[in-house]
Amino acid sequence: MKDISCEIIRDLILLCVDHMASQESESLVKDHLKTCEGCRNYYDALKTELETMPTLPSREQDARELKQFKHFLSVKKWQTVLAAMAGLLLLLVGTITYMNPKGRYIDYDEARLSVITEDQDMVLFTDSIKGNYRWAYDFDVNTGEYSLHYTQTLWDRYVDYHFHPLDHNHTILKKDTVKEVYVDEDGSQTTIWEATKEEKGRWQTSEKDGLG
Ligand SMILES: [Zn+2]
Repeated sequence: MKDISCEIIRDLILLCVDHMASQESESLVKDHLKTCEGCRNYYDALKTELETMPTLPSREQDARELKQFKHFLSVKKWQTVLAAMAGLLLLLVGTITYMNPKGRYIDYDEARLSVITEDQDMVLFTDSIKGNYRWAYDFDVNTGEYSLHYTQTLWDRYVDYHFHPLDHNHTILKKDTVKEVYVDEDGSQTTIWEATKEEKGRWQTSEKDGLG
């Protein structure tokens, strides 16, 4: 063992300070250092140099950062997938709405209209429709009867609602209307509100005055 040259030992020292040497090499170096001052100085100098060097990130830290980065990537991936799916859904709803601008007919049972308040001038009623909708109406000047129904596109129901929520309250002005009915797709009618005989008489008188 004694005949290993200092040159070889110094190569091994390099491996030792890097913790890359085998145990056998390390004990060889240790033995040599006990007897060789030159190599001991070399070893000490190298050690000092290493200790004063700015510390590099450890492997553990590398591993941790890699893990965090992978996590970040997977979160990003899911966000991208979800955003793409939302975009597709929006596009689909938009396309169907575009191809069917009139939308779906809403029947009375689905609209679930109910009167909230009524005073001598007006009636306030509301509906239970999810999302926005449009209304179509017809007014008969001779009878004072107002008939209406609602329609809804997918866009109204699922998209537009989030940006421009509709006020679901509707007002009937008694001076303008005698009866308000909801018309289903099959033509059947449901009265939402109807004036009393006295009120009807008043409307007819004022209407006659207006015409005369
Ligand atoms: Zn030596």
